[in-house]
Amino acid sequence: MNYLRSTLARRRSGLGENEPIILMENVNKSYTAGVPALNNVNLHINKGEFVFIVGDSGSGKSTLIKLLLRELVPTSGRVYVNGTDVVRLKRRHVPKFRRNLGVVFQDFRLLKDRNVYENVAFAQRIIQMPNREIRKNVPSILSTVGLAGKYKARPKQLSGGEQQRVALARALVNKPSILLADEPTGNLDPKNSWEIMDLLEKINNDGTTVLVVTHNREIVNAMRKRVITMKKGIIVSDEEEGEYIDED
Ligand code: ADP
Ligand code: MG
Repeated sequence: MNYLRSTLARRRSGLGENEPIILMENVNKSYTAGVPALNNVNLHINKGEFVFIVGDSGSGKSTLIKLLLRELVPTSGRVYVNGTDVVRLKRRHVPKFRRNLGVVFQDFRLLKDRNVYENVAFAQRIIQMPNREIRKNVPSILSTVGLAGKYKARPKQLSGGEQQRVALARALVNKPSILLADEPTGNLDPKNSWEIMDLLEKINNDGTTVLVVTHNREIVNAMRKRVITMKKGIIVSDEEEGEYIDED
């Protein structure tokens, strides 16, 4: 009885002690019958980890990210994020579930007709943060990503690296427990790529769990993080302090 009660209490509060923050069990995803985009994927990620996901184009990396965001549901298998059973999550609970996830993409996805401040504030308005809080939180996160002083710029007045930092600020302003980045440096030169990766590492050092899909071999090999390699929908390797594995 006590056990049951404590289990229920844990469920209500989200993630249980010692429970992975991301858990996939026997996950399969097929978009069209017979061709699996993910093939029996099993994945445990603990709170506070920094994980790279690498692999050829078409190997299932973005599909995996979309399952974690509940943009997709698996064909079969279980997905838990932050203690939530994502597969069973009711549609009306999806927006609240996503508040705990920050996301950045290769193509930034900023609002082109809004300035930097408004692009970041927008994420706070969606969750109905009071203006008084927004006026504190937005400048604080913009200074974290090195963009204090650029509040009024429009996206097209910024470099690619600066635009990605705005996207990162927007992803982080609501203080998510997990940050998912799908090829965040895909459109950036090496210097800006490193600046974004350094920021992701700093965010991770402050406690956020970070998952980064990337093709940047040099950065993966230099950073010595956990590296998960995918091939044709299968996790073919998962190494602590790993390296970018060559094609065979
Ligand atoms: P990656 O991000 O590693 O490049 P994806 O997860 O985007 O790989 O794609 C994995 C496989 O699923 C590929 O074969 C791709 O063509 C297929 N796929 C991805 N999205 C769709 C979709 N919306 N409809 C049909 N097939 C898709
Ligand atoms: Mg992809």
